[in-house]
Amino acid sequence: AFLDRIAAVDGTVKAFLHVDREGALATAAEVDAAVAAGQDLGPLAGVPIAVKDVVVTKGLPTTAASKILEGWIPPYDATITERIKAAKMPILGKTNMDEFAMGSSTEYSAFFKTVNPWDTGRIPGGSGGGSAAAVAAKMAPLAIGTDTGGSIRQPGAVTGTFGAKPTYGSNSRYGLIAFSSSLDTPGPVSRNALDGALLHEVISGYDPRDSTAIDAPVPPVVEAAKTGANGDLSGLKLGVVKEFESSYDKAEPGVVEAYRAGVEQLVKLGAEIVEVSCPSFTYALPTYYLIAPSEASSNLARYDGVRYGLRAGDDGQHSLEEVMSLTREAGFGPEVKRRIILGTYALSAGYVDAFYGKAQLVRTLIKQDFEKAFEQVDAIISPTTPFIAFKFGERTGDPYQMYLADLYTIPTNLYGGPGVSVPVGLSEGMPVGLQVMGPVMGDDITYRVAAALES
Ligand code: GLN
Repeated sequence: AFLDRIAAVDGTVKAFLHVDREGALATAAEVDAAVAAGQDLGPLAGVPIAVKDVVVTKGLPTTAASKILEGWIPPYDATITERIKAAKMPILGKTNMDEFAMGSSTEYSAFFKTVNPWDTGRIPGGSGGGSAAAVAAKMAPLAIGTDTGGSIRQPGAVTGTFGAKPTYGSNSRYGLIAFSSSLDTPGPVSRNALDGALLHEVISGYDPRDSTAIDAPVPPVVEAAKTGANGDLSGLKLGVVKEFESSYDKAEPGVVEAYRAGVEQLVKLGAEIVEVSCPSFTYALPTYYLIAPSEASSNLARYDGVRYGLRAGDDGQHSLEEVMSLTREAGFGPEVKRRIILGTYALSAGYVDAFYGKAQLVRTLIKQDFEKAFEQVDAIISPTTPFIAFKFGERTGDPYQMYLADLYTIPTNLYGGPGVSVPVGLSEGMPVGLQVMGPVMGDDITYRVAAALES
């Protein structure tokens, strides 16, 4: 049914870069056979899933929506792909995204744009616009995203879907095409918190192949989503950030209105709202745009025309260095080049202390703001994004306008804690998301609050 739905609507939505009809049907047949044989399979066996194209899938094209990886077929699976396969979930295909997960609208895909199923003149968010659009258009019940600065939560907010960025290190990065290694976190995209929690438990947990993996039990997110669905939040303290509150006059009024209605709803469910102060959040965006590009400039050095995908100028007339340079010139899009230049500059001798080093110090302050706040409250809430899905082309002319999409989501990445986005209402007929941020390894509380809001 999902493959039929893809055939019917993806010509318009364009959420998928690659559909694996045969592979999905083969897994489905395996599940049928196992069920017929009386085998006890996991809770998501047979439930199809779409996977963001930044996640490596053995035998299936994986491009991170970049020309530089066009035609590359990975010889191995990411840990989360292995876990999806072990759970016997049919993989429907790979979803479109901003090139190397850099962007907030999926307009920076090297291949084509994905549209927002709510309004085809608008963006589906990014970088995981394909995964969010696939779930929003009911082409997949579940999808995988990755969140470095907001790429699961922001697309979730603008497409009316649920998205969770788990605690950094609680989900393996092995086999994710690296953007910013100290921030990248894979996570679930779904229609609601409980579906997301079920997928969260399938993909999470310690992995010795990821040096930053946390060796601790997965927070009980499924149980928390079920508890939340009872709609009782009494005894829970939810923080609103003073420094965000005083800036909401710069966000779209319709977004703030929907968010405020959500806060009222949470109060009705029994939660107590407490104001917390996080003064360093004001510096989160500039801090992120030094750290993320710095790490990216290093991670993307591997695309040299020798090891993967595209090779340009290999005609016997060019030196090795020229081949590398021509390959990178032809293979990377403008936003990726911008990040490489920014990052190389921030890391260069004479500037590293002033830029990258300073950003690391501010990152620590942001972490301390969170830690202090979580001494007072169980979770922190905010709008997920300052604005609804914008129209194509509206923000590509000015990178800063594009970067603002993640104003409220970035602090959580710099801290390493969990954050989810849950639909909270509409503005101008378009979905608005409410973000719930939790303490490190406190993913369960974010699911509980989100599920209560859905109830
Ligand atoms: N929009 C942010 C960026 O462009 C975040 C991307 C992400 O989370 N992958 O870097």
